[in-house]
Amino acid sequence: MSSILIKGGHVVTQNARREIVRADVLIEEGRISKVGAVRDAADEVIDASGDIVIPGLVNAHTHIAMTLMKGIADDLPFGDFLDKVFAADARREDRDIDIGTRLGCLEMIRSGTTTFVDMYYCEDTIAKAVEAAGLRGVLCWAVLDQRFTTQGGVPLENCRRFHSSHKGRKKIIPGIGLQGVYVCSEETFLGAREFALENDLLLHFHLSETRKEVYDHKDLTGKRPVDWLESIGFLGPQCLAAHAAWLTINEVRALARAKASIASCPVSNMKLATGGVAPIPEMLAEGVNVSLGTDGSTTNNSLDMLGEMKTLALLQKSNRWDPTVVRAQQALDFATLNGARAIGLGDVLGSIEAGKLADLVILDGKAPNLRPMLPEHIVSNIVYSANAGNVKTTICEGQVLMRDRHVLSLRESEVLDAAEATAFELLGRK
Ligand SMILES: [Zn+2]
Repeated sequence: MSSILIKGGHVVTQNARREIVRADVLIEEGRISKVGAVRDAADEVIDASGDIVIPGLVNAHTHIAMTLMKGIADDLPFGDFLDKVFAADARREDRDIDIGTRLGCLEMIRSGTTTFVDMYYCEDTIAKAVEAAGLRGVLCWAVLDQRFTTQGGVPLENCRRFHSSHKGRKKIIPGIGLQGVYVCSEETFLGAREFALENDLLLHFHLSETRKEVYDHKDLTGKRPVDWLESIGFLGPQCLAAHAAWLTINEVRALARAKASIASCPVSNMKLATGGVAPIPEMLAEGVNVSLGTDGSTTNNSLDMLGEMKTLALLQKSNRWDPTVVRAQQALDFATLNGARAIGLGDVLGSIEAGKLADLVILDGKAPNLRPMLPEHIVSNIVYSANAGNVKTTICEGQVLMRDRHVLSLRESEVLDAAEATAFELLGRK
């Protein structure tokens, strides 16, 4: 593999001291080999003078193939929303999933995401498209009780098959996705956990997204979801819970005890008006690892992590009547270091330091919305002022996926045309 030298940017290292340095970054064999003044020659030189170089963002919860279903169920009550999405989902074919994934990958490349956590069925189809795009996907096959699924066969068996056919790949990391307590029994949760522990896999699940989910589960079992998951022995460091919006302080402490991570999805929660706001200040105080996700495109409707960081910070401040809650630096941590830790890759991802995998994004330092760019305000500019249009170049594990706003790994116009045609056909399909 070739070497790449990124010259002269403001490098937001996200190292332990959160240093921002004017430096070059040398990439060799897919890893960052030097950060500083680099005189070595490289096969490819990218001039980033005056630009901002940040670690590739980690979207810790999405359903990428749903990108094609954007707009089909907006502005509806939650029950009607679910009916519409499930009906469209049941009509989906492999081709829809493939093109929806490619469209989502384009959007992520253009908005600075290099790693994402996905939960869906047909992750084998998704994996092919993600590999073509060159992104890193932690692809969690959806597991639920057989009586609730539209998947052919037994979901956990499908998940096992996906794992055995995809383990050991470079950027495709198989995981387990549990849809939620409303469709997964104790046996399903524990079967998934056993498989995860045997194979060192991420256990990703929806958790306490709506109040109804929490109280229905309490009616059924006598316990709130986190209390119940702790009581059956499910929780552990391999757990990444999406939403975690309706929690008591005891449940926050249970997640902290288990060393579990959460992925907050503020836009999705606000758009569906599910009412819960994840208790992020308490999670941070108790030591829960907080990461950030967009959720799928039927509930967001975008995969833009730059926008998601801002929304999370604003929602928390507004909800607490306290502007000091979730500072810009914390929001950036959620989308980088904490996301990497949530998927068990904290040692190799999430910051720009020698030895880490080369996941880097270059933001346009000439964009008016990012100026003035005083070093002490750069993080604030990234979280509160940046948008996807500022992303110039995206690199994942040393592979340049987009350079100077030209996507290199996918044929962009072909993907857009095919997505248009397929979405039109999907909507008309009965
Ligand atoms: Zn979700």
